[in-house]
Amino acid sequence: MTLGNTGSAERGERKTNGEVMSASMSLEAQYCAHNYHPLPVVLTRGEGVFVWDENGKKYLDMMSAYSAVSHGHAHPRLVAVVREQVATLTIVSRAFYTDKLGPFLELACKLTGQDMAMPMNTGAEAVETAIKAARKWAYTVKGVADNQAEIICCSGNFHGRTIAAVAMSDEAQYQEGFGPFPPGFRIVDYGNIEALRAAINVNTAAFIVEPIQGEGGIVVPPEGYLSAAADLCREHNVLLICDEIQTGLGRTGKFLASDHDGVVPDGLILGKALGGGIMPVSMFLARREVMEVFTPGDHGSTFGGNPLGAAIGLEALNIIVEDDLAARSAEMGDYLLQQLRDIDSPLISDIRGKGLFIGVEIDPSLTSARSICEALMSRGLLSKETHETVVRLAPPLVINKAEIDWAVQQISAVIATMEKVQLAS
Ligand SMILES: *Cc1c(COP(=O)(O)O)cnc(C)c1O
Repeated sequence: MTLGNTGSAERGERKTNGEVMSASMSLEAQYCAHNYHPLPVVLTRGEGVFVWDENGKKYLDMMSAYSAVSHGHAHPRLVAVVREQVATLTIVSRAFYTDKLGPFLELACKLTGQDMAMPMNTGAEAVETAIKAARKWAYTVKGVADNQAEIICCSGNFHGRTIAAVAMSDEAQYQEGFGPFPPGFRIVDYGNIEALRAAINVNTAAFIVEPIQGEGGIVVPPEGYLSAAADLCREHNVLLICDEIQTGLGRTGKFLASDHDGVVPDGLILGKALGGGIMPVSMFLARREVMEVFTPGDHGSTFGGNPLGAAIGLEALNIIVEDDLAARSAEMGDYLLQQLRDIDSPLISDIRGKGLFIGVEIDPSLTSARSICEALMSRGLLSKETHETVVRLAPPLVINKAEIDWAVQQISAVIATMEKVQLAS
């Protein structure tokens, strides 16, 4: 058992909220900004669907870094590509061509039905890229008057943490203390096609939407919403841009969540799993007419499209296709959803999702999603609450049936125990 080079278990201290802090936790809590509320576990190693903590305890990862680790931890094919590429060429910037970027973007475009892509690193940067593309397209192609372009987004959305991304949000905490915000965003009710119709006007450049809302609490809109939105956008010469940073790349049981509706959007944002669980790789993809609004000097990123990220991204896409991770997600997701629905408890008010992208809604009058995640953690299952009431279940797509069975046993046991505590109080 190793506990780092300076501390020991005895260095652990008790926090006021009852969480035991190990030396690593204390150090992180002292020097790292408190913009997250992590579960009290220090992870040191990962392989496939499992991670291990500093005491050697093994956990099933049902969180997979908000879907960034869809391939599982340390996928052997990805590790091999990293080893090869890291010793060959890593960063040169887009001041030069490389042998790696073209093949990566070609495959990404072919798999998504898009014409061109702009490589970025994090999801939020790719969202910014989409916003800039939509606005410039509105002025140069659609003919919107200068500085009048509007982008429609949805209630409950999550598009990242940059100033523009939080300007699009209706979540008070995302904005509080960070204003002023750029104008030009209009929020409509998610899932309500009439609200979208009413919000479109001559200045509307784009409608940016998550086909299933992730951070919003795994919210699945009504059947046919996305295809109706696509029709409406086409009718009014408005770009439909899907933010599939979290829902894309097999997560919901299709290669893209928009495939469930047979929709090919005018613009598409990918990230998270695109980096194979190894490093941030994102991109904005679009029809040629949209991407061609960018000219040299308009927009860029020092690291975006670097050969290391491109090599990883290419292999990440190849694995998703060759191992048919989307089909696996559909099959395992249905299985998990079925097992979860068999748990009969007043603590659970809703279970929803598609593929291995599942939210279990907890009745907040009875317990919190956080307490459930903490109890699951002590049983060796890692997940994280979203929006206080939802337990997110989004394991690596390589998870198998036996692992799901084990996870469901832990979840049932935790729910049963909590139910007893509730009934006793
Ligand atoms: C995670 C996420 C983002 C932001 O990605 P980062 O890599 O954290 O910047 C944007 N949109 C959606 C839908 C996301 O899930």
